[in-house]
Amino acid sequence: MSPALTDGLGRRHTTLRLSIAERCTLRCRYCMPAEGLAWTPNRDLLTTDELIRLAALFARLGVTTIRLTGGEPLVRPDAVEVVRRIAALGVPRLAMTTNGLALEPQLPALREAGLTALTLSLDTLRADRFRLLTRRDGLDRVLGALAAAVDAGYRIGGPRPLKVNAVVLRGVNDDEVAALAGLALRLPVEVRFIEWMPFAGLGWGRESLVPWTETRAAVEHVHGPLIPREDAPDATAQTFRFSREAPGRVGFIASMTAPFCRGCSRLRIAADGAFSVCLFARESVSLRDALRADATDAEMERLVARALQRKAPAHGGRSVEALAETADAGRAMIAIGG
Ligand code: SAM
Ligand code: SF4
Repeated sequence: MSPALTDGLGRRHTTLRLSIAERCTLRCRYCMPAEGLAWTPNRDLLTTDELIRLAALFARLGVTTIRLTGGEPLVRPDAVEVVRRIAALGVPRLAMTTNGLALEPQLPALREAGLTALTLSLDTLRADRFRLLTRRDGLDRVLGALAAAVDAGYRIGGPRPLKVNAVVLRGVNDDEVAALAGLALRLPVEVRFIEWMPFAGLGWGRESLVPWTETRAAVEHVHGPLIPREDAPDATAQTFRFSREAPGRVGFIASMTAPFCRGCSRLRIAADGAFSVCLFARESVSLRDALRADATDAEMERLVARALQRKAPAHGGRSVEALAETADAGRAMIAIGG
């Protein structure tokens, strides 16, 4: 790996989250306001060639996982083409996080193009709640996409891992965590419960946060003890298997109560080319502007290295308390690259 991807604390950055679309087909209350965001004009978003040039640069520097995200990545009309061209660069893992609404019809093409991992977001199994949480209909389509992903050969523990992300919000879906975990008793999927993270202007407060320990207890209350998987430590999620036979497993992403910043290996590029070294960082570097000013790969590498040297030890240099209390992470998550 190039020294450019190692920061001042010796953290090696092997994962790139690349946003390929800023817009979204849902309006999840914890992520986006009802009216959407102040969308970036198309001319300021990365073109497909620019996306590929950046993916190639980071692959050459030593990134081993590229995760396509957004907004909703499948809003991009040429998403399959983007997957095909990035896969052709030889990146070992090419993943996508999607809300699943438009996934099912595109799944065979995405798989054939080289998508090696899939994460679907699903916070509830109740249609009324889905509407409340996302401000849109579509639960059936997401569940259909999940079943189709299993049929297409995506499964946790296999060569094409399948995960479900569920953000847990107190008083909204915290009574459903056992039911969501139950998906992993029936399907080869890792159901990952995510602690809500505070982003500006969404009206959620500290009281919305359900600590992962509480979610784990609620799952164990119904499904019995969860056994930690010590053989496969993951920097971001703590993963567990059930004490009975099950095709899937569960994980917890405790971004707020047990931050994993010390093992952070993630970099982000937003749909407009803003490069950030932390989800909570206030600063970013425009790789789009550098590309459009005809920067060479060596110059781009220097920009990346310089940004990484400034990476704070944790949470963009602010305390978890400060983040939660002000609910101010600057830009919405999707504007930073999911
Ligand atoms: N639209 C796609 C989706 O929903 O899967 C990809 C982008 S979305 C920003 C990526 C992930 O971030 C989703 O699993 C979503 O649940 C999660 N997310 C969004 N806002 C969040 C927040 N405030 N706290 C924790 N997770 C959040
Ligand atoms: Fe869209 Fe994903 Fe944000 Fe929901 S979490 S509004 S699906 S970007």
